[in-house]
Amino acid sequence: MNLLLAEDDALLADALAAQLRRAGFEVEHAPNGAVAEYLLSRQTYDAAILDIGLPMMDGLAVLEGLRQTRPTLPVMLLTARDGLEDRVHGLNAGADDYLTKPFDFPELEARLNALLRRSRLQSPAKGLELGRLSLDGESRRALVAGQPLELSPREWLLLELLLQHRGRVITKEQILQSWGQDANASNAIEVYIHRLRKKLEGAGVAVRTVRGLGYLLEASP
Ligand code: CA
Repeated sequence: MNLLLAEDDALLADALAAQLRRAGFEVEHAPNGAVAEYLLSRQTYDAAILDIGLPMMDGLAVLEGLRQTRPTLPVMLLTARDGLEDRVHGLNAGADDYLTKPFDFPELEARLNALLRRSRLQSPAKGLELGRLSLDGESRRALVAGQPLELSPREWLLLELLLQHRGRVITKEQILQSWGQDANASNAIEVYIHRLRKKLEGAGVAVRTVRGLGYLLEASP
């Protein structure tokens, strides 16, 4: 497993790189955002660990650029700032997970392995497929194990959004935006999530609630 570690604190970067290598990862270190962006555009990594507070280009900007070219590369953000706004910003920009400094190495390792596991589960899926669920965007049909699923227009949009961002959190704002609705409709989201969960029983996928942030779709056993 090949990792990019973007961290400007040299002591922390050295310690993390040494621990990651001991845990069996190959690690390349970028001391600033510009080097991180350069390496990400030229090398193939299995995951990236990006500090948010980086010189030259912050971690969120690196992530936003990366998502244009590598939408599915697992990305873990490191942040010194423990704010909901930062986390939401990071997740909206396409981060898969985040850790607030200071953290213990075993937590980083466990979360990283969870990201890599999720990414391996999803990688065989081409287009909008997960578990026994598949979506055909042209005909606007959802199939579970080949059988069509009856969906209202809003349910369709919600499921499409979840599947496009599978394994990543979507916020209530993103859902409302896809519906073309304002915040007044946000109470309806839970109702639709509830209905979708019922319809997706047996589809090999689960809609998980991430408290305070939103929802994510993941493969379930
Ligand atoms: Ca930093």
